Amino acid sequence: MALDRAMHPRNRYRDKPPDFSFLASKYPDFSQYIHVDLAGNVKLNFKDPEAVRALTCTLLKEDFGLTVEIPLQRLIPTIPLRLNYIHWVEDLMETMGIKAQGPGSHAFIRGIDIGTGTSCIYPLLGATMNGWHFLATEVDDVCYSHACCNVERNRLQDLIQVVKVPEKTLLLEALKENPSVMYDFCMCNPPFFATAEEAKGAKSRSAHRPPPSSVNTGGNTEILAEGGELEFVRRIIQDSLHLMKRLRWYTCMLGKKCSLAPLKEELRRCGVPRVTSTVFCQGRTSRWALAWTFYTDVSIPSPPPKRRKMEKLKRPFTISLPSTVVEQLLGQNGPSVKDSVQEVCRFLEKVLAELKVQFIRVSSAPAEVSLFITAHENTWVHARRKRRKEQQASLTEMACDGDSRSMSSMEFQAASHSDSEHTQSPEGHNSAGVCSVGKVESGDNEVERDLDLPGMRMSGSSKHSVHGDKPVLKSLVNVKGVDDGDQEGNASLFVELHWVEGQNRDSLNQLASVLRNRLLSSCVSPAAPN
Ligand code: SAH
Repeated sequence: MALDRAMHPRNRYRDKPPDFSFLASKYPDFSQYIHVDLAGNVKLNFKDPEAVRALTCTLLKEDFGLTVEIPLQRLIPTIPLRLNYIHWVEDLMETMGIKAQGPGSHAFIRGIDIGTGTSCIYPLLGATMNGWHFLATEVDDVCYSHACCNVERNRLQDLIQVVKVPEKTLLLEALKENPSVMYDFCMCNPPFFATAEEAKGAKSRSAHRPPPSSVNTGGNTEILAEGGELEFVRRIIQDSLHLMKRLRWYTCMLGKKCSLAPLKEELRRCGVPRVTSTVFCQGRTSRWALAWTFYTDVSIPSPPPKRRKMEKLKRPFTISLPSTVVEQLLGQNGPSVKDSVQEVCRFLEKVLAELKVQFIRVSSAPAEVSLFITAHENTWVHARRKRRKEQQASLTEMACDGDSRSMSSMEFQAASHSDSEHTQSPEGHNSAGVCSVGKVESGDNEVERDLDLPGMRMSGSSKHSVHGDKPVLKSLVNVKGVDDGDQEGNASLFVELHWVEGQNRDSLNQLASVLRNRLLSSCVSPAAPN
């Protein structure tokens, strides 16, 4: 199962994908669907509806203690996605000060699942995980009867009521019986497609995306609706305009990203005061979700960062030291790649110690060393200023001595740039995410921007403080050596700073710049680092 770091943080499968071998050893029914490939990996064929169903039923049993039966000719829910939606609803409840999950949660949460399907998956999960009460609606006879059986099978009738509703009705019809009953939320995984052609995937997936990794098992009533999901959700919006505050949050999942904008526009046009959206990521499958409320006293969660931006944020900050610079650092007949890595690592440790940054070597391979660093204080912003003053003072001194001509262009650039940083994007990376010491050495006079620009200064002062026990920055620093493959046995080195956690990513970029500059100035000075 392809899983994703972008899953909801509380999704139990985010860091711990299902262990197929273990499940197969425990559940003989499941074991028949797995196979071991030539590389020894245990695999499941996600194109086989029976295999997908076996996995869903096995996970529900193993991880939630639920016994569920699902006919093959109807939609088979995948559990990681359904959990992402449930956790998002929990978060939405929190925006209204209602703790909807975990210890100390609100005793009575009541939700509606529009179109519960044969599995009755959302009510079963919500009731089992959080003790939520549900009204589950369904138009399809087969779905309705299976959903009722699945609730009874798990003895959850006290929490879940399944009702059959007439086609084309949504919330209004289902709620007309008891007009005084209030609900905390409604959720819905609507039929996504308007036509069978669309359901086959002709229009729903952009050309550059790979095909989905699992089979779509939905029957026609489940995946097709007049006007597709747009029309379906528009009708829920219309119902919500009548019901207003009878429900706290109205939510819908969407199969197509392009449905979000027109629906948000519709909500804006209708004067709905609070609207938010999210994306559920699980492997190759993404789904979008929309929520709106007529309550105004809510702190809306910010929408998730764009995928491209997330990928950019995940990229490490890289300092590259081409072999020419490595030579400068360690001498012409310097040590081997392995020793160079060790040398640079020792140098970084020395600088980190000066900056009062804690470090521990977590792993060491022949041409790679990893340091896990923790900083409880941002000392490097001020260190940079101090060093700049010192540098300016020494430059002035040299100029006064009439000695400036004796500096090489590299030394001059190093001196005048030692406090400046590479050009940064708002996320704090330069355009390539790489800052190359070699640029300076080779005389590339690319204009560099000082980190003490207004945007940086703004956050600098608040960051230079001790914040109790919560570290300002944790990072994994890898020092890697790569053989250049030439006859001289030259090697390039890379120092990668990976963000782990902390108060602000800028602090990592600032630290990377300080380390880069220290490496650079040490290469200007005649002595090799010690
Ligand atoms: N919630 C389930 C099933 C989603 S498929 C899951 O996530 O796996 C969509 C379901 O909505 C189908 O079972 C379909 O029969 C049902 N449905 C379609 N129109 C409906 C309506 N107007 N009211 C209630 N259910 C409806």
